[in-house]
Amino acid sequence: MTNATQPNKGGKDSFPDIVVSHTVTIKTKAPSDNPDARDARISYQRRLGKKVVHRCFPMITELKRNTSRSLRDDEFEALRETLLQEAEKDLQYYLAVQFHRDKEASSIIAVSGSGAWWRWVRFSRAECLPLSYWTHRATLSDEKMDEYDKMIVDMNKRFDDAPLNYLGTAESDAEWNKLRKTALIPILEAHAHDYPSSMPEALQAAQEQAAQAAQAAQAAQAAQAAQAAQAAQPAQAALPVASSSRNTRSSAPKSPKKKKGSKK
Ligand SMILES: [Zn+2]
Repeated sequence: MTNATQPNKGGKDSFPDIVVSHTVTIKTKAPSDNPDARDARISYQRRLGKKVVHRCFPMITELKRNTSRSLRDDEFEALRETLLQEAEKDLQYYLAVQFHRDKEASSIIAVSGSGAWWRWVRFSRAECLPLSYWTHRATLSDEKMDEYDKMIVDMNKRFDDAPLNYLGTAESDAEWNKLRKTALIPILEAHAHDYPSSMPEALQAAQEQAAQAAQAAQAAQAAQAAQAAQAAQPAQAALPVASSSRNTRSSAPKSPKKKKGSKK
């Protein structure tokens, strides 16, 4: 997790607010007791006898601030949509960075949030813009730019069509379960195919790691809830995002009714 969300002088940072990091380790052979192997033994102990053979980021999250509760309903919904779209614009860049860094990843889950409101989409590599859209824009042909503009429209529509959830509600919890079952675990199960070279015990490891990643997703959810709670502090009494003892549905600030056709 990182708080490095402030773009540096007009540029962009390449770190989303929260990522789920998936690692696979293998046990390594202990070095001999030979005095020459002292450094190797220290290194072995420091790594607990394990070696990381795989690391990926199957889920990235970008969170924007909470919407002011003093707004009228229509203003509130319009601002919330604007903030979610800002997060989703950032996510389009982060997805490009992640797919560029990880040449074998076939899909990544993107989660956008404004305060305690959130929605998610699983994007395949083919659906995402290449990093050159940002780094070499001036060299791209008009045809390419047209193609990329269409991809942006399609990505925005995927987010627009995704259910909008309010953390702490039963619907939100069900959506997290859906994310885990229909996206996160399938991504991990596809590892044997996606990462053949770095997954020596892929099938066995994927099973173990699926369980761990499910925990990581829950930790990310808790972290998001904490961040949302922090962002919502001025209105905290009315925004029990992390509370399970109250009926958060009835006290959610506004209806999750989607605002359509407001994309740029
Ligand atoms: Zn992985």
